[in-house]
Amino acid sequence: MNIENLEDILKNEPRYRLKQIKEAVFRDLIDDWSKASNLPLALREKLSKECPLEIKGEILKSGDGQTVKALIELDDLPAGKAGGLKIESVLMKHKDGEGTRNTVCVSSQVGCPMACKFCATGEMGFKRNLTVSEILEQVLFFARAGNKISNIVFMGMGEPFLNYENVMAAICVLNGEDSLNIGARKISISTSGVIEGIEKLAEEKLQLNLAISLHAPDDELRSELMPVNKKYPLEKVLEAVDGYIKKTSRRVMFEYLLIKGVNDSPNHARRLARIMRKPLYMVNLIKYNPAGGDFQPSDADTVERFKGILEKEGVAVTLRHRFGGEIKAACGQLAGGKNF
Ligand code: SAH
Ligand code: SF4
Repeated sequence: MNIENLEDILKNEPRYRLKQIKEAVFRDLIDDWSKASNLPLALREKLSKECPLEIKGEILKSGDGQTVKALIELDDLPAGKAGGLKIESVLMKHKDGEGTRNTVCVSSQVGCPMACKFCATGEMGFKRNLTVSEILEQVLFFARAGNKISNIVFMGMGEPFLNYENVMAAICVLNGEDSLNIGARKISISTSGVIEGIEKLAEEKLQLNLAISLHAPDDELRSELMPVNKKYPLEKVLEAVDGYIKKTSRRVMFEYLLIKGVNDSPNHARRLARIMRKPLYMVNLIKYNPAGGDFQPSDADTVERFKGILEKEGVAVTLRHRFGGEIKAACGQLAGGKNF
């Protein structure tokens, strides 16, 4: 799918055309312009040529059907040539008191330049930023298959704040009433700590959720695991988060992966508590998904002990269970481009 030059094509059309088209693509979920019967034939033909709606994706289902991974091929190569870049995105279905929640975990880049040691996407290196169409098509792919999408998390491949403009433009469409109408409060962005992005997000008039990948309680360990910490050290990241909270009064989630023997001791927990005991800070402990390197997930009792220490120290903490591990569809395991 490529609708990057849609506005250009509609330049000489009446204003209401854009609304009609948004509704057709993002609300009625058409996959072919011939289905947009309220558009003039000549426009439909032009759009078919210049703004293809086809999404080249394939599905890989998990055993329990709760997690579905899609592999989407991008249009880098001329038509007919196989072997272009691919990205991965994941649909996660949760049942809770209010019914089923369908969350799409979206990629923002092909690969990632941040090179975190524990992450399969980091290992594959950086290829390029995704366009707005390429971000949107990941959501449309699952929506067209009949899933009502309720939540979006930018936790797939890539660092969203290194592709800030396109991520925000895509969010604007996802959020729009005439399109998928997903509330800003249901959209989360996770960052490895790109300070300029945190500062810019604080200025947006949107109630998005911000998550920070922390994974270590001090600079020494964090720089070892996440080279980005050398550019954006912990103290500076937390300063930017405090600025964000001051401006927005929104809660901020800190993600902390528990990796066996690396960052999961009681001492790590106590030091983490010292920097996380603040209003509107929340820690989300995540079980590590083995991603091909030397790292292993912490044992269940180590996880419980770690959580217990944070709770005792007055930190707001939750535990996220492994999800989609069996089809390599969990965070940090997405590396679709690697084999192509
Ligand atoms: N680049 C952004 C968003 C994508 S990664 C970021 O780093 O925040 C989404 C989350 O998955 C991050 O918290 C990341 O640290 C985490 N992650 C990476 N590798 C993982 C793995 N193997 N197991 C579990 N989580 C992982
Ligand atoms: Fe990039 Fe996030 Fe993976 Fe780090 S954890 S390499 S920032 S995708």
